[in-house]
Amino acid sequence: MRVAIIGAGMTGASAAQQLRQNDAEVVVFDKARGPGGRMTSKRVESMDVALPFYPLDFGAQYFTARHPQFVKALQGWLAQGVVQRWDFDPYVWQHGLLLPSTDGQSRYVSTPTMHQLVKNLLDDTTLYLNCRITELSFSQSSFSSQHGGEWTLSSAEGASYPGFDAVILTCPPEQSRQLLAEHPLALQIPSALLLPCWAVSLQLKSAVEHPADGIFVKEGPLSWCARQSAKPGRAGITEQWLLHFNAATSLQLLEASPEELVALAQLEFSRIIGQKVSVSESLCHRWLYASFNPAQPAPGLLTDKTQQLVLAGDWSLGGRVENAYLAGRQAAAFLLPAPLNVTDLSAVGIDSMLDNA
Ligand code: FAD
Ligand code: NAD
Repeated sequence: MRVAIIGAGMTGASAAQQLRQNDAEVVVFDKARGPGGRMTSKRVESMDVALPFYPLDFGAQYFTARHPQFVKALQGWLAQGVVQRWDFDPYVWQHGLLLPSTDGQSRYVSTPTMHQLVKNLLDDTTLYLNCRITELSFSQSSFSSQHGGEWTLSSAEGASYPGFDAVILTCPPEQSRQLLAEHPLALQIPSALLLPCWAVSLQLKSAVEHPADGIFVKEGPLSWCARQSAKPGRAGITEQWLLHFNAATSLQLLEASPEELVALAQLEFSRIIGQKVSVSESLCHRWLYASFNPAQPAPGLLTDKTQQLVLAGDWSLGGRVENAYLAGRQAAAFLLPAPLNVTDLSAVGIDSMLDNA
C-alpha cells in the first residue's frame, strides 16, 4: 500500500512510523521548511558571537503522558535520549499573586528541540518539504490499486504526485476543509475546533530573580511563561522567556503589530514576576490554529473507507501532543489490514488448517 500523508507534525509522523513498520510505502508532504508542525522550534538570531543562532520552542512547550500506548512510546524515547523529563516546580499567577503550585504531574520535552522527536519518528521517510498541497483528486481505477482507486496530489508549485492508494490529512481542520473542497467529508469537519495563540519570546538584558521557571497564568492576557534555559538539553540559551497569550486575547489581537504585542507581553510579565524587565531581543509568532476549543466535543477521526481517506490530528481526540500521537496511530490502523486473530482463524477453519499441517 502506498500512502500520502499531508502534514509532518506529530500526527503525520506517528502515522508514518506505524505504517512503515507494517511495510506500507509512505510519502509525507509539508508546506513548512522543516518537520514538527506545532511542535516546531524557530531558529533565533543571537548577539552572542559564540552562539549566533539557537532554536526556541514557539509551539508546544512540554507534553504529558496518560494513555498506556503513549506511555509505552515515551519509555522508548526516554531510553533513546530524544525525550527528557522537565522537572520544574510550576507556579500559578492568580488573584494578583504568584505562588508555587506544585503538583505530581510529570512533564516531558524533546531534546534539543521539541521538533526533534517528530524528526526521529519520521526517520528516513520520504519527505517533501516546502510543498503546500493545494488539491487532492481521486480517480476510480480497476487495475492501479488494490482498493480500486488512486489519489493524486497537486502542490502550489504545480507539481503532481500520483499513485497513492490512501491519503491521511493531518492539517488543522480549517485547512483540511479547504483542501477537501466538495468532498462529503468536508461537511463533517466541525467549525472553530482550534483557537489562536500569539507566542512572544523575550530575550532579557538581566536575569529574572524570581525562582519560577514555568508559570500557569490564570488572569490577564497571558496563559503561560517559561524560562527556556530551564528546559533540559537547551545548552547555551541564556535569559530567554517564551510567553503565550491566552486564546481570547490572541483572538482580539490577531492583527496586532509585533511592537504592540511585545510591549504588552513585557508589561504583563514584569507585573507577574514583580520585577521590571528590559528586553534586548524579541520575536512574535502567530498560530492561527493552536489549542483545542474546550467548548467543542472532540470529533474523533473522520474517514472514508471506499476512498481510503482519513482526516486525523490532535483535534480529533481533544488537542495536545499525546492526542496527536494517538490520532496518528489510529489513522494508520484504519488503513492497515486488520491483524488476523485467533477468532478470525477459527472463523476460516483454523482447526482444519492445523489438522492438515
Ligand atoms: P500540526 O503540528 O499542526 O501538523 C500539521 C502539519 O500540516 C503542519 O506541519 C503544517 O505545516 C502542515 N500542513 C497544513 N496544511 C498543509 C498543506 N496544504 N500542505 C502541506 N502541509 C500542510 N500540546 C501539548 O501537549 N503541550 C503543550 O505545552 C502545548 N503547547 C502548545 C502551544 C502552542 C502555542 C501551540 C500552537 C500548540 C501547543 N500544543 C501543546 C499543541 C501541540 O503542539 C499539538 O497538539 C500537536 O503538535 C499537533 O500535531 P498535529 O500533527 O496534529 O498538527
Ligand atoms: P498539564 O496537565 O500540565 O496542564 C493542563 C492545564 O492545567 C494547564 O494549561 C493549566 O491551566 C492547568 N495546570 C496544570 N498544572 C497546574 C498547576 N500546577 N497549577 C495550576 N494550573 C495547572 O498538561 P497537559 O494536560 O498535557 O496540557 C498541555 C499544555 O499545553 C497545557 O498547559 C495547555 O494549556 C497547553 N497548550 C497550549 C496551547 C496554546 O495554544 N498556547 C495549545 C495546546 C496546549
